[in-house]
Amino acid sequence: MKKIVQTALVLILSFLSVPILCVTALELTADPEKNVSAPVASGTVYPQEKEQQTGENLAKVQEHCVPVYLHEEDRVEKIDIVTYLCGVLNGEMQPNYEPEALKAQAVAAYTYLMYQYTDNYETKREAHKDAWICTDPSHCKAYLSEKDARASWGDAWFDKYKDRVRNAVTETLYQTMVCQSMPINAVFHSLSSGKTEAAKDVWEYDIPYLQEVDSSFDETAEDFLSEKSVSLEEFKNTLKNYDGTIVFPDSGDPAVEITRSDSGGVLAMKIGGIEIKGTQVRTLFGLRSANFTVEFSNGQVLFHVKGYGHGVGMSQYGANCLAKEGKTYQEILQHYYTGIEFTEMNIFEQKKEG
Ligand SMILES: [Zn+2]
Repeated sequence: MKKIVQTALVLILSFLSVPILCVTALELTADPEKNVSAPVASGTVYPQEKEQQTGENLAKVQEHCVPVYLHEEDRVEKIDIVTYLCGVLNGEMQPNYEPEALKAQAVAAYTYLMYQYTDNYETKREAHKDAWICTDPSHCKAYLSEKDARASWGDAWFDKYKDRVRNAVTETLYQTMVCQSMPINAVFHSLSSGKTEAAKDVWEYDIPYLQEVDSSFDETAEDFLSEKSVSLEEFKNTLKNYDGTIVFPDSGDPAVEITRSDSGGVLAMKIGGIEIKGTQVRTLFGLRSANFTVEFSNGQVLFHVKGYGHGVGMSQYGANCLAKEGKTYQEILQHYYTGIEFTEMNIFEQKKEG
């Protein structure tokens, strides 16, 4: 089976190019598009035996660069794969989480990059100025450079956990989750509502590996429950601005009817003759997730919210709990991504002949 997967990946990637060497940020600033190779030529992938990324091998890996669109600076920079993945972990996960949870996150981040590079490149190409991925967490994945992480966390915190983060990346490098031989869309979130959400309930298209799974550990998190309060007037105005056809009663609280997914996330909220998606309500009122209830009381509207994030794929908090229970990163990933397989996918090297 593994052989079939690898062969398929070679075929899939045979249309893609392989940027090998880093160029300097200065060169890219001068003419980003000229220096970024779009995946259009003769890229290859080959299965690697598990290797420790140390010494000579690590030096080679550091020549494997990813064109990354730095959205805040509006420029593209090629960043070596280890530095890039450490930056994603810095930006997306608590560095003091268990090593196996950090490794799960590292594989998810690399898999997501491979997904962008293969399945999704053309979709986002223009927004990324031909880079493979960007640093906007609302579009791709967050990225925090060492300089920014030190500024944000302080030197002591960064120095305490930098090796743990780097080891998680180097010990899992090139490991990729696949479904039907393709890298999966390895989405993740901070904290579920006790169960993850199926993709079909959040994004309205079914993805076989993004199904509802148990993550009841999440209910033990300190910030599992949150509240958001707005005045009834602000509530009405926000909804009127969203849809001018909404009608509220002259007096009293409006009637609200909510439908939910099996995991409890709000699919839709009916109010004043209109229906609004739960994810849209989350956006309109800045809620931590779309798993909420609505309570009207004395001219105020109170949202009670469970979890944090879209709820699809891996729960980072849940991953950390599973790691504490002794689960390996592969077991953690197999728990959250239904039916996936692992392969090694190195798009940076030419295929070894013979
Ligand atoms: Zn992006």
